[in-house]
Amino acid sequence: MSDLSSALAGHEIDVIVIGAGAVGAVVAAVLRDKGARVLVLDAGGPPDSADSPKVAPPDAAWRHRCEPPEARWLREIAVGGRTLVWGGWCVRACEQNVTDARLAETPWQVPLSALDPYYARVERMLGVVGNRDGLGVVPDGVFADSVTLHPRLVGLGASLDLPIIAGRLARVTGRPWRAMDALHGVEVVPRTTALRVLVQRGQVVGVECHRGAGERVVVRARRVVLAASAVESARLLRASGCGHDEPLRIVGSLVASHLVLVPGRIADVPGVSYSAFVPRFTNIEGGAARPYVGGFSLEVVGPSPASVLGDDAGPMLGVSTEMLADSTIFQVHALGTMLPSWERTVRFDDADRDPLGRPVPVLRLASSDNDRSIGEDMNAACLAVAGALGPDATTIPFVQPDGLVLGSEVLLGRDDDRDFDPEGRHRRVAGLHVADGRLAPLVGDRHPTLTMLACAVRAADAVVADLAQ
Ligand SMILES: Cc1cc2nc3c(=O)[nH]c(=O)nc-3n(C[C@H](O)[C@H](O)[C@H](O)COP(=O)(O)OP(=O)(O)OC[C@H]3O[C@@H](n4cnc5c(N)ncnc54)[C@H](O)[C@@H]3O)c2cc1C
Repeated sequence: MSDLSSALAGHEIDVIVIGAGAVGAVVAAVLRDKGARVLVLDAGGPPDSADSPKVAPPDAAWRHRCEPPEARWLREIAVGGRTLVWGGWCVRACEQNVTDARLAETPWQVPLSALDPYYARVERMLGVVGNRDGLGVVPDGVFADSVTLHPRLVGLGASLDLPIIAGRLARVTGRPWRAMDALHGVEVVPRTTALRVLVQRGQVVGVECHRGAGERVVVRARRVVLAASAVESARLLRASGCGHDEPLRIVGSLVASHLVLVPGRIADVPGVSYSAFVPRFTNIEGGAARPYVGGFSLEVVGPSPASVLGDDAGPMLGVSTEMLADSTIFQVHALGTMLPSWERTVRFDDADRDPLGRPVPVLRLASSDNDRSIGEDMNAACLAVAGALGPDATTIPFVQPDGLVLGSEVLLGRDDDRDFDPEGRHRRVAGLHVADGRLAPLVGDRHPTLTMLACAVRAADAVVADLAQ
């Protein structure tokens, strides 16, 4: 085995960060700013290379199985991770999310108010734009700029009698995420897959990696932060002898998604926001209490010319090309809380190994009764919004049969509290930290990444504090 750290002659490394997605980039940036010598390893290639990025790559080394097989797990093995494809929606969690998590017996390990300063730091790093709307259900943040909602979306809120707010979106999205690298001088080593964290006498000593053509390398450092995504970090922990054998519960987003075609063109209004957020949609059937735990919010994006969908969209959506050309489009998404359930788990199959010798992840993504119940309301809400967009609107659902697409995952182990402290330190292995969705609390009804990143910044601060000792 060669030794990558000696290849990086003169580079003493304080911290290895595994994964250069949203979490890895933010953690590395915080550590770099505090003067730590950081090396970020990523299994994927640079996003512009021929082999990257890919959603749910068919590559045998990243094979996984889903139960049921038609469920989908979206992930990116590329420098930048899923932020290469994310929508950039950044909404803070609210007290109702904390209550939902308590009802689901997965209480938050930190009070929401303790995350405020970390949310603020992430919002500054990402350049989140939005307005101070004064709604408790979407706590205000630190915004780089205010935005004016497109009049058509303002009108939609009025006709639905709902508090509809301008989408809070990160300026740093997709490929520009790489600007973080440039900004903070973080070195990323691509095409380097961490296979296990090396631990000697309860202390991290390095990481064993795989690099192209069967080469095994060891990178030495006494501190490692796992940021490979919740499932991959769990697989790494297990391979390193610090994880679980029993299945882990997955919490993903339950998404219902509809495309609405409204006949005719709607005038462009330069400089306004085309993204609206309908927080915690609760007024179905006049706001009656709903028979489930959790809730959901809606996002509406539009109006846009149908040309953004591309030339093949008509046949794919089952509408004529002429109709598409004569329509304005809106996209309506509902994001619902998926509560932890033993019907939705991830396990690693030791009898089925990939070419790198790793057990293949098996994701069981069945819906619980609670999920199905929320899902029905989510669909009804999307249709209500679609109807309010115009009497002649055509609504095209583009969802999995039961909405099971996992685009972001949070994992809850049976005993995560015993494994990690709330700041992401492993309790038994000195120098081992976790920062990704494995550490994040249950959010639901809104995208989770802002909250994941707030927790990641907190974990990065803990690494800095430990380094100083
Ligand atoms: C289509 C889509 C839209 C989304 N939109 C939004 C949105 O608008 N708002 C929002 O909040 N969230 C959104 N999300 C979710 C968001 O993208 C994820 O929550 C977030 O990117 C997770 O960040 P991460 O760093 O934990 O994981 P990832 O971004 O997946 O990064 C993990 C990184 O680790 C690397 N890696 C994995 N295993 C290894 C290994 N063994 N060794 C080395 N490297 C490894 C991967 O190559 C990857 O770069 C969206 C997701 C999808 C799929």
